[in-house]
Amino acid sequence: MMPGAEDMRELELYIHIPFCMRKCNYCDFLSVTADERLQSAYMEGLKNELTFYGKGFRDVEISTIYIGGGTPSWLQERYMASLMEVVHKSFSIRGDAEITVECNPGTLTRAKVKSYQNSGINRLSMGLQSANQQELEHLGRIHTFEQFLRNYEMARECGFDNINVDLMYGLPWQNTEKFYRTLTKTVALKPEHISAYSLMIEKGTPFYDWYKFDGVKQEAGFMPEVLPHEDVVYQIGKMTEDVLAEAGYERYEISNYARKGYECRHNIGYWQRKEYLGVGLGASSLLGNVRYGNIRDLERYIECCGSIRETRIKDIKTEKELEGVNLHETAEELSRNACMEETMFLGLRMIMGVEKSRFYKDCGFTVDNIYYPIVRELKEEGLVEENLERIWLTEKGLDLSNYAMAKFLLPG
Ligand code: SF4
Repeated sequence: MMPGAEDMRELELYIHIPFCMRKCNYCDFLSVTADERLQSAYMEGLKNELTFYGKGFRDVEISTIYIGGGTPSWLQERYMASLMEVVHKSFSIRGDAEITVECNPGTLTRAKVKSYQNSGINRLSMGLQSANQQELEHLGRIHTFEQFLRNYEMARECGFDNINVDLMYGLPWQNTEKFYRTLTKTVALKPEHISAYSLMIEKGTPFYDWYKFDGVKQEAGFMPEVLPHEDVVYQIGKMTEDVLAEAGYERYEISNYARKGYECRHNIGYWQRKEYLGVGLGASSLLGNVRYGNIRDLERYIECCGSIRETRIKDIKTEKELEGVNLHETAEELSRNACMEETMFLGLRMIMGVEKSRFYKDCGFTVDNIYYPIVRELKEEGLVEENLERIWLTEKGLDLSNYAMAKFLLPG
């Protein structure tokens, strides 16, 4: 039996679909293009993995499911329908579970949307990123804004009443006005949830090759040539907050905004460090105090799914042997300090901050026991505030979140 399984009552489930029609120019997620044969073999493997865990986690209730990728909506509907059938058969799923699937505009059809509904999926997360055609092309996205609109309207017509739209700012040649236009076009559609992340230039992507010197120049105090200067990115972030607040969206996490009652429960679970089971290529899980990472090689993952079994796996840091399964490539038993740091880093991403009672329950110490001098220092700098129940970042703290969060690192 996997660690922590006996006493678990609530679990979040993440399912990774690693396929995309084409790789976007900024993307370093674990996603590949694949033919029908590979997709079919992968989906069979995934179902084996779900069935395996279903047997081990019989007394667990699944509170949220997130099918991410990659581009899950690229799959033909029969794959998703049979995947969800196995999920329902293998696990006990709460009646009010939030079940999300990530969709890319241009890949949805009415048949797929209807099939999602029949499978119990009740939330769509649509990756728009930009409403500007030049930006979409430069990002390497497969869709136009018009295709997004058609897919969005179709989902509404089919009855989806919980939709997230993902946006990205700080793009090459972008200024506040350009992103304002993307934002207002999005807000006009009245989605329940909007995520707005600033672009990160990741190693191994075409964007890294094209723009790495912009970052170096900026750090050396010069103007970047193509990427917006960090002051412009900051202004875009502030403008986003204002426009979305005006339109009735509450910022509940550094990059996430929702109408009341539509906050993403699955992601809140991550930020509150709830246990989650990740299945699929490279998916990670947090079970008890162990973080597992699945195999990241597609062929090897499919092969191992043919005979899943419990095994011993070496902790990546301590070499200590832990319980795991042969699909795990990594396992790390988190120290008490690591748990406390994570609880603070993740919790402070949320505007409501860290609940002190949750910190005590998860870590066995009060926040004051561990962080009193740090909290006092950050309060004096105007970066955090607290009351009896919670501790949270102020507006200034959110602007300087990297600096503030680094203070919660513990020695050793
Ligand atoms: S669609 Fe998403 S996962 Fe796929 S390549 Fe683009 S950014 Fe990456």
